[in-house]
Amino acid sequence: MAERITMTPEGVLQVPDEPIIPFIEGDGTGVDIWPASRLVFDAAAAKHGRKIAWKEVLAGEKAFKETGDWLPDKTVEAFREHRIGIKGPLTTPVGGGIRSLNVALRQILDLYVCLRPVRWFTGVPSPVLHPEKVDMVIFRENTEDVYAGLEVQAGTPEADRLSAFLRDELGWEIRPNSGIGIKPISELGSKRLVRAALEYALARGRKSVTLVHKGNIQKFTEGAFRNWGYELVREEYADVAVGWDDCGGDPGGKLLVKDTIADITLQQVLTRPEDFDVIATTNLNGDYLSDALAAQVGGIGIAPGGNINYVTGHGVFEATHGTAPKYAGQDKVNPGSLILSGVLMFEHLGWAEAAADIVRALEATIGDKVVTYDFARLMDGATEVKCSEFASAIVDRL
Ligand code: NAP
Repeated sequence: MAERITMTPEGVLQVPDEPIIPFIEGDGTGVDIWPASRLVFDAAAAKHGRKIAWKEVLAGEKAFKETGDWLPDKTVEAFREHRIGIKGPLTTPVGGGIRSLNVALRQILDLYVCLRPVRWFTGVPSPVLHPEKVDMVIFRENTEDVYAGLEVQAGTPEADRLSAFLRDELGWEIRPNSGIGIKPISELGSKRLVRAALEYALARGRKSVTLVHKGNIQKFTEGAFRNWGYELVREEYADVAVGWDDCGGDPGGKLLVKDTIADITLQQVLTRPEDFDVIATTNLNGDYLSDALAAQVGGIGIAPGGNINYVTGHGVFEATHGTAPKYAGQDKVNPGSLILSGVLMFEHLGWAEAAADIVRALEATIGDKVVTYDFARLMDGATEVKCSEFASAIVDRL
């Protein structure tokens, strides 16, 4: 029987054998990658005696056409009520009131972690010599920083008032005709993000958590993020984790927590990828880092993402690429990003075996050089298949 996912008062997700899971098909190539991915999800769930009661909800162009609203309240309510959902890519309406549907969903449901695991799958074409050394999991803060949307446009009365306030109250001289943005970084936001990264690393026996920040320059925002991270380790995790400065780099049997500056990190993830494992970082750094890292392991068609609130259990899992409108409806693009986002969703549901099965089958398919156009053009001797055929090939190998 189809049932809702619930949460106990102690904060443990209760997932029935047939959970109701809302999905947004997505715009553009969403019509291709969603049905392909669903085929894989249903087959993997069935193999373990489970079933998903899919519930379609609308957002993006499809929602706008049918309801006049880009993100109907009903959709947000469905994600709120059912806790866990999945979505294809959405067109970001240019102009108009809504900045980004993705950002709106994250803020409304307070999905404070953007989870982006980055690992290489055997056979995936990569621009680096040793993509197999990349195995990192990025926890990007999802609700604060310059993404909070606190900006005023140059030349507006709001910008003039803010400049006047900053000059009069703080003695800050802002150049005339400047746009101004605010970068809030809070103790609560930083600690809950780092806590999620620590819990993940401890549960999976990972070797380190690196706090990536720009605290050498932005001391009271990025620097504070770093300090709050270390403070949390000392306050709540002293028996199982230790900060670099508190152990001289030798953690004994504990989880090592270290930090690096964001700019040098972008070099080192390329030159010394083996030094990085779980990464916890602020919103803007995390945005750059996730895409830079995704490129090392085969790029955009295959990078998964999840937006999660570990306290309420809410999670929205999504393809990280856009709608690729020029390929829409051609049954051509790679559904890998959405499929692997579903793997993250299965892991969040506690369906670890089904998740691992999908990963193994996807790896076997690529290992057999059965791939979509994006990989086929970079591989020798590949068999190029359609989006739906790639999904069927995965199901055959489940
Ligand atoms: P995009 O849709 O990600 O497409 C850029 C290029 O990436 C494509 O031309 C294609 O490269 C490659 N690509 C994308 N998806 C692929 C897939 N599934 N398989 C293989 N290759 C894939 O970026 P965009 O053209 O800048 O954005 C289009 C729209 O998407 C915009 O409205 C944007 O706002 C929106 N968007 C949404 C999300 C989201 O919902 N999460 C994220 C980003 C952008 P080739 O041409 O080289 O084959």
